[in-house]
Amino acid sequence: MFSSKQTPSFADSQECNTYAWFSQRAWVEIDLGALTDNIKQLVKFLTPQTQLMAVVKADAYGHGSVTVAKTVLEAGASWLGVATVPEGIQLREEGIKAPILILGATHTAEQIQAIAQWKLEPTLCSPKQALIFSDTLEALGDNSFIPVHIKLDTGMSRLGTDWQKAGDFVQLVQGLPHLNIASIYSHLATADSPDPAIMQEQQRRFTEAIAQIQARGIKIPSLHLANSAATLADPKLHYDMVRVGLAMYGLYPATHLENKIKLQPVLQLKARITHVKTIAKGTGVSYGHHFIAPKEMRIAVVGIGYADGVPRNLSNQMQVLLRNQPVPQIGAITMDQLMIDVTSIPDLQEGEIVTLLGQQGKEQISANDWANQLNTIAWEILCGFKHRLPRVAVM
Ligand SMILES: *Cc1c(COP(=O)(O)O)cnc(C)c1O
Repeated sequence: MFSSKQTPSFADSQECNTYAWFSQRAWVEIDLGALTDNIKQLVKFLTPQTQLMAVVKADAYGHGSVTVAKTVLEAGASWLGVATVPEGIQLREEGIKAPILILGATHTAEQIQAIAQWKLEPTLCSPKQALIFSDTLEALGDNSFIPVHIKLDTGMSRLGTDWQKAGDFVQLVQGLPHLNIASIYSHLATADSPDPAIMQEQQRRFTEAIAQIQARGIKIPSLHLANSAATLADPKLHYDMVRVGLAMYGLYPATHLENKIKLQPVLQLKARITHVKTIAKGTGVSYGHHFIAPKEMRIAVVGIGYADGVPRNLSNQMQVLLRNQPVPQIGAITMDQLMIDVTSIPDLQEGEIVTLLGQQGKEQISANDWANQLNTIAWEILCGFKHRLPRVAVM
């Protein structure tokens, strides 16, 4: 009966059932209905000629890559993007057949062999890397061609060949055995900024690079440039495909992009009340006694902490939702537990569910709220939930 495996059925119910009470103190809830709606909204926003790549790297931004990948492909995405070879293999092992682009750089014979074996599609960033690929595939004695994606650096200063050398680079790859150019792409550095100047300069460079390549009589099968922010910001950036991460998880990359389409957050973070008690005026709470009760108080312990991914820097500064109302967190957040002030809820029961991120009634706390408080970005918040938390899919 008791198992370390997740039990996906309990989370839909607010009831405190005994089994769930013992087995699940905290979890991440993934709303597959919201995910499906977000994909449909995005597809509707694109012209039919533009494909949607769902970026599912980093375990689908902490949402669980296999479940997310299957759901988004069903909903209208046609490509998947991952960061690493093992992330791609994991999807293939689960029977996913859609094309998978590895957004990161790969170099070793071991990686190249796995790419060929699992039919993953690599990003090529330099002539040297292209030669390694071609030579390694030759040495494997495989006379087939693998699709490769050419990455140009137009201003991100991360992966890719300098856009001014695009013509030479693409011509080299075109001439190498075993490599078929499937697309040419670049990545934007400032697409979430309200000032489009740098993004427009990157697009100008991308356009010039394409002209250079075409001037050599090379036919380009597919072009892509946009992440979530660029997808929402300007249809002129869509080309043949957009690579969407954050937006499909229901978060806006920037507030000025919120009016473009309607997105719903997919992830909710929940935990149970594990203990309730009264403390006297003047009592210190948690490590360091950074909170001292200003009066007699009712406090509750919640079974989630920084080892689950609740940032400790939110100590004494965050709220959680309980019985459809915001309740303040008090004292230092500890590794596995945190305390909240429940003086306003005298009949609170152990086992009740607290929402740390997500919605209860009319109240909502989003990953962007935490990100703003912590001076970081929603991407980092979503990727921060540890694997001790089961991912529970709900519809
Ligand atoms: C992660 C990533 C994306 C997705 O970015 P979002 O801002 O989450 O939409 C797109 N393209 C590349 C190359 C990436 O690494």
